[in-house]
Amino acid sequence: MRYGVIGAGALGLTVALRLAEQGHEVTVLERDPVPGGLAGSFEVAPGIWLEKFYHHLFKTDRFAVALIEQLGLGETLQWHRPVTTVFVDDKVRQLDSPMTVLTFDPLPVVDRLRLAAGLAYLRLLPNARSLERRTAGRWMRQVMGGPKVPEILASGRITAGGKSLSSCWGNREVYTYRSRNSCQRRSPSVS
Ligand SMILES: Cc1cc2nc3c(=O)[nH]c(=O)nc-3n(C[C@H](O)[C@H](O)[C@H](O)COP(=O)(O)OP(=O)(O)OC[C@H]3O[C@@H](n4cnc5c(N)ncnc54)[C@H](O)[C@@H]3O)c2cc1C
Repeated sequence: MRYGVIGAGALGLTVALRLAEQGHEVTVLERDPVPGGLAGSFEVAPGIWLEKFYHHLFKTDRFAVALIEQLGLGETLQWHRPVTTVFVDDKVRQLDSPMTVLTFDPLPVVDRLRLAAGLAYLRLLPNARSLERRTAGRWMRQVMGGPKVPEILASGRITAGGKSLSSCWGNREVYTYRSRNSCQRRSPSVS
């Protein structure tokens, strides 16, 4: 069978690969001069490619990593341990481990303990289903402490302190932190 796939982003290229693996003839149509879509790169100097947007890849992103390996690009993946910081009271502060939570002095000690307990709870949750009907801001205020907590945790990621964001976001964030030792900063070029 002959297939046409519109768009050479990650999705279109993966669909094309899977169809080709099944023996089909595939043509990918792309309007941009280079493939990759939102995950694409552009050449800033000869041979030096920069991503159009920032991206993270974690070892827990098993399907994406398996695809990269399958494409023979596994060698180009470099795994680093990122440091996660927040900007509070005109200072950049690290906030990405039990110790940095417990010593996070912009929050009173009680709030730090509640924040640590809330994060531990999110970490132990097998999935986010029980959080689906609650907003992140409300959940964080109820479980993790005073009004400053949602503001701090959500700053830079979302606006309005999580007022309309599902609390599943917290579960996803902690899931991401769980694999923080395996964050990848340099992506394989799609060019
Ligand atoms: C700032 C930012 C950060 C992100 N961070 C992450 C991250 O850390 N981890 C993660 O997993 N995801 C991240 N994402 C999301 C990820 O980049 C996208 O989900 C993914 O790249 C989407 O792939 P896609 O193939 O579905 O769509 P797209 O990448 O949008 O590809 C669609 C392609 O179709 C082409 N096209 C559209 N219409 C036509 C047409 N009529 N004719 C021909 N071609 C057409 C477009 O030019 C484009 O190349 C991020 C996205 C952004 C913007």
